[in-house]
This record gives sequence, structure tokens and C-alpha cells, in this order.
Amino acid sequence: MKFRCLIVIFALGCTPAEATKPAVDLPAKPAKVEKLTRSNEEWKKLLTPQQYEVLREQGTERAFSGALWDHHRKGVYKCAACGLELFSSADKFDSGTGWPSYTRPVHAAHVESDVDLSHGMKREEVHCARCGGHLGHVFDDGPPPTGRRFCINSVSLVFEPAK
Ligand code: FE
Repeated sequence: MKFRCLIVIFALGCTPAEATKPAVDLPAKPAKVEKLTRSNEEWKKLLTPQQYEVLREQGTERAFSGALWDHHRKGVYKCAACGLELFSSADKFDSGTGWPSYTRPVHAAHVESDVDLSHGMKREEVHCARCGGHLGHVFDDGPPPTGRRFCINSVSLVFEPAK
């Protein structure tokens, strides 16, 4: 019996932790998304002018101008306004558009969408489910496995590298 226990302990001790660790540390479960409401004046104090324009006024950064469209590190992209985890490097792909693009959010409950009829187009706008911050738009011309393309402004995101 004692010998058997020792074998189990030895086997556990020898299991390489790295082998079972995912390449990217993702939130295993959706966060409890409680709505965060702030006044425009509060957001102005917390965000840079460019963040405010995009996140709170539905602006769009110029293509190929943001910090994250050509960014390839492993990690999680969070809302620049409230810190909610939104996208993973595992779902990022090069869309050629000049904006960071993802096939899906880390959890469906972390983003919400609205119909956007501005600029004479009908598009699906996406925003952070917690703070309502505008992120970008989602289209149905993405690659597998979802066929979706979440086209997101770099300025709406902050990157947290995998540990
Ligand atoms: Fe947010």
C-alpha cells in the first residue's frame, strides 16, 4: 500500500506542469458582467482623447494606425475602459484591413452588438458588455471556425501578455 502511494506521488510529481497548461491563460468562465455606468465627464477624465472618441463617441481609428493590428504576442486583449477580457490572441488573425481582427470574443457574454446605420451602411456594431464602450464592428466574412470577423479598434483594447 505504501509503495502504491509512493508511485502515485512520484507520477504526479513528474507530470510536467507546462504540458497541461494552455498556451494562453483565458478566463475559464465568463466574468459576471455587471453594468458599469459613468458620466461622460468621468470617462473624459479616465480615457485619453482618442480613447474617448472611439469608445464613447463610436469613432474609428485610421486603418494601419493602431498599436495592435500587427501585434502577434500571446495573451488577452481587454477593454481599455473597464478591463473586461474581450479577445484572445488564439482567435486573432491577419485580416489585411489594418485593424486587429478576431474570429470570436473570449466569451459571448463579454460583448454585445447593435445595428449601426451610420455612413449609409448597415453594420453590426460591437461594444463591451460591461461598460458599453464601442469596440468596432463584426462581419460575416471571417475565417473558420466561426466565419466571423470582429474588426476592432486598437485604441479600445489593452493587451495583457500570457503569464
Ligand atoms: Fe468595457
